This record gives sequence, C-alpha cells and structure tokens, in this order.
Amino acid sequence: MNIVLLGPPGAGKGTQSRIIQDKYHLVHISTGDMCRDEVKRASPIGKEIQQIIDSGRFPSDEIILSLFENHLIELKGQGVILDGIPRTLNQAQKIKEIFARLDRTLDGVIQIAVKDEELIQRLSHRYICRNCGASYTEEIHPHVQGVCDKCSSHDFFRRPDDEPDAIRTRLEVYNEQTKPLIKFYAEEGKLKVIDGMGSVEAVTAEIESHLSEFQVLTSKSGCLYSAQDI
Ligand SMILES: [Zn+2]
Repeated sequence: MNIVLLGPPGAGKGTQSRIIQDKYHLVHISTGDMCRDEVKRASPIGKEIQQIIDSGRFPSDEIILSLFENHLIELKGQGVILDGIPRTLNQAQKIKEIFARLDRTLDGVIQIAVKDEELIQRLSHRYICRNCGASYTEEIHPHVQGVCDKCSSHDFFRRPDDEPDAIRTRLEVYNEQTKPLIKFYAEEGKLKVIDGMGSVEAVTAEIESHLSEFQVLTSKSGCLYSAQDI
C-alpha cells in the first residue's frame, strides 16, 4: 500500500505517520528525513544539500525527487507513507511518473484538515529534536520527559518560524501551494479529507477507516498485494 498524508504544518502528519507505519508495515518517507540522512552520510548530494541549506534556501524539486526515486528503488516493493512530499503540483505530477516507472500504485491521499487558529495554538507550543527532527507539542510529548522517543537525544529547540505571526505567513504559503495539489488528487479520485481537530486516537481511527477502503479498492481492481508487499 502506498499513501500520501497531506496537511498543514502542525496537523499531526509526523505523529500519524509514525503510528500508521508501525501498524501497516509501511516505510515513512519525509523530505526532511531524506535530506538529513544524505547530509549525515556526506554523500555528494548530501554536501550539495548542506550548502543549499546553509545559504538559507531549500533543495530544488529536482534534488528532492531524485532522492525520493532512489529511496523507492532501494525499498523494492515495500509500501510507503509520504509525509511532506509532494508539496507542490509539479512534485505530484513527477511522483506519478516515478510511480509508473517503478510499477507502484498510489492507493490514496489523505488530507488532514485543521483550522488555522488551532494550528497556531499547537505550533506555538511545538519543540523539535535537533538530532532527528521529531516534533512534539504539549499534547504529544516524549514518553520520557526531555528524551526524544525516536533517537534518545536530549537536545530540543523551537523553530523561530513557529511563532504566531510567522505561522500565519507559513499557513498562507502552504494553502496557496497545496490548493492545486488537492485539486489534482481530487480529480484523480484519490483524495480523502479527514477532520484533524480530534484527539490523536480519533484521527488515527479515521485514517484507518480509509486505509481499509483503499485495500478493498486495490483488491477489487485486481492487483491484490501479497502480505510481503504491505
Ligand atoms: Zn530525536
């Protein structure tokens, strides 16, 4: 099963991805993690990414998509959950081509909808692990206070752009960028919109109801995945 999670910053994509990947044996792919891994490995592309980030820019679609395709090739047939990618219509179209090349099917796209005011509230309490990028809020805190669940680091920071005024600007940019993306997936018949205002458990339950729907559709269309694939 291959799915995309869409949602504004603070909607809980990272948290939900971690829950879903364990339950469904999917590999969680986020652009942040992919870039951090390359930088850590000090690969040629990693060095290029470091330079781009140091100069205050973001890696181009071309870099992100080539990392993404290589990563998918390494995973062979294993299912994936995409978080933070695609971010633009161009990326979505390119991902469709990559999937076709690698003989993968995108089963569905789940958009987690949360009101702007709620996002501002959540992000103004968010802190992030400096080592692995995992993010936490007042509601979703590490199991052991001050220790990252994912990598055991003790080093957390707050993003300067998580302050309310900066968040408003980021949300405007996000909404502008993703409108065409959402239209694209709606026209492809792949989009499911869920209410992200509830508790973590309620949102997970809603996502899972769609996942079982995707599985039924996939098996009906004649390309049932073996247990190994999902
Ligand atoms: Zn961490």
